[in-house]
Amino acid sequence: MPVVRTEAIALGRTDYSDSSQIVTFYTRDHGKIRALAKGFKRASGRHSSKAVDLLSQYQIFFIKKEQTSLHTLTEAVLQNNYPILRNDLDKYYRASYMAELTNEFTVENDPHEQLFDILTETLAGISTDHYPVLRSLVFEIKLLKILGYLPDWGCCVECKSRIQQAAGVYFSAKDGGGVCKRCQMKSPRGIVVPPGAMLIAGRLAEMNLQRLDRVRLHLSVCIEIEKMLRYYIAFLLNKELNSWKYIKV
Ligand SMILES: [Zn+2]
Repeated sequence: MPVVRTEAIALGRTDYSDSSQIVTFYTRDHGKIRALAKGFKRASGRHSSKAVDLLSQYQIFFIKKEQTSLHTLTEAVLQNNYPILRNDLDKYYRASYMAELTNEFTVENDPHEQLFDILTETLAGISTDHYPVLRSLVFEIKLLKILGYLPDWGCCVECKSRIQQAAGVYFSAKDGGGVCKRCQMKSPRGIVVPPGAMLIAGRLAEMNLQRLDRVRLHLSVCIEIEKMLRYYIAFLLNKELNSWKYIKV
């Protein structure tokens, strides 16, 4: 069986035995994979160099199994463990949320190289940025876009007219887009969103991450967009995410 090498971020892990774990990685070349990591569990003693840390980037080597979705990890070489994240609880929870989102929205062996790159850039950005709220917000929107869930925030889903960025605009998760005031009155649905929230979210979806440092968005605007996204994500996944308990909106 072939040994495969790829870049990977550790998203989650569960115990398998006293000395082994099953680690979920998001990889550049194979998308999400699960790998049995034998002898990788102990964080001290002679196996210390083999422990896999969550939210760290590795170059991994694994034996790719064709008959099962559980592969075998043979080596994990640490590339970046984003040390600043480990010393700042808010940043750590925010990064954990990015990992949870990636895990929940992806299926195994379905690679999206762009998503991998944005995940690593976002972890680095959250780690070093003094204002990580915008970083995580843009990651949520980019993930939705890459995986084909980006709503139509520009036009009414019903009558296709351009959404007027005024009071009384609605967003319907079920319809995947904005609803104008007139259509909303005919057939009520969704949640009301503040003027401009959908317009700004749509612009962030198209934004180059390298230009994010220059963007100044008031915290209250970020909060309104985040509320809208959580409502939409909860609808898509049919549940609330664990990380939401730890990150204030
Ligand atoms: Zn309409």
